[in-house]
Amino acid sequence: MLHPHPLAQRTLNVKPSPTLTLDAEVKAMKAKGSRIVNLGVGEPDFETPDFIKEAAIQAIRDGFTRYTPSEGILELREAVARKFSEDNGLDYDPGEIVITCGGKHALYNVMQALFGPGDEVIIPAPYWVTYPPQVLLAGATPVLAETRESEGYVLTPDALEKALTKRSRGIVINSPSNPTGMVYSRENLLALAPAIEAAGLWVISDDIYETLVYNGRVFVNMPMACPELKGQTVICHGVSKTYSMTGWRIGFLAAPQQVAKTVTMIQSQMTSNPCSIAQKAGLAALTGPREPLGRMRDIFDSRRKLALKLLGGIPGFRTPVPAGAFYVFPDVSAILGREIAGRAVCSSDDLAAVLLRECEVATVPGSGFGAEGAIRFSYAASEEEISEGLGRIARLLATEARPLPAA
Ligand SMILES: *Cc1c(COP(=O)(O)O)cnc(C)c1O
Repeated sequence: MLHPHPLAQRTLNVKPSPTLTLDAEVKAMKAKGSRIVNLGVGEPDFETPDFIKEAAIQAIRDGFTRYTPSEGILELREAVARKFSEDNGLDYDPGEIVITCGGKHALYNVMQALFGPGDEVIIPAPYWVTYPPQVLLAGATPVLAETRESEGYVLTPDALEKALTKRSRGIVINSPSNPTGMVYSRENLLALAPAIEAAGLWVISDDIYETLVYNGRVFVNMPMACPELKGQTVICHGVSKTYSMTGWRIGFLAAPQQVAKTVTMIQSQMTSNPCSIAQKAGLAALTGPREPLGRMRDIFDSRRKLALKLLGGIPGFRTPVPAGAFYVFPDVSAILGREIAGRAVCSSDDLAAVLLRECEVATVPGSGFGAEGAIRFSYAASEEEISEGLGRIARLLATEARPLPAA
């Protein structure tokens, strides 16, 4: 009998993305006719705009179906450079841009390029589920820096100082944030800049929700707030959320040339180029009309207000007002420690499980985001679905929640 060697050590502490696992389950339940309401998804529910689909169809007709340069086609890298110049006032040469197979792939490549064993990467919590596993897969160590709801979930200079050690090499900043919807202001970023500069940290700026900001807030990233830090910043971005293109797998990054070159080397040995057809679609997206973006943003904003209004009527949910992305992240700790529909609910995992079973509403427990007492609702769903889903939850908690019987 064969006794193969065990799997690679670095994979042993890493689990599959909980949000993608949940999403696959929910989509399978829906396909079987379940009346489940999906408030767990992290993707826009709009169709990809027609002019983008047409560009892809045209690329196929034109036979644009072969390898491209690993770093992506020049036209698209030029369009990305133009986007950074026009939208953010940041000048990048196309040689400092790499096109990747989605925003997640941009982040993964950067972690591989910059970090290794012995290095620490600071991740403000609550965080997007994917950052710690990506740091672990690079062989480096994620170091969580706590943020507080009372401070708008913004990382403070104090919390940053606490997380810094001699081994710190990088910090991830995600604004607007998944899962909290929090948005960093210029002042918030400027407050962090001196410590980041002094420690020589790489700033990994995840700007994927750039266009989804509300309440009159404006998007700012670290090199916009503090141009001195542009040389130690990598911006990871993509078309998935902005243009409702999650399935096309086109992301991009902007970085100092040496980093862009190293990422291109990694990519050339791993995926080669991102899909040639999807690159043409991405080019159409970045160079096409801006009007669909404003329309999608306005629809998300109405849904955000609806979700906040309905959540405000559910006792035990304390919901900070998010200013970006498409998530609300209520604190539900007041509900934990109760019995709901005959089951003890002691954690956000328990609560999400009860909501799925009793209401057929999918949510994501805060545990996966490093925030045990919270639960994430996505409002990338129609107003009918939001009303139906939150209505079911309100009715369940009004009729079925009681104190746990004394042990
Ligand atoms: C969705 C998302 C991404 C990237 O998504 P892709 O589909 O890989 O382009 C990156 N960061 C955050 C925080 C996200 O929510």
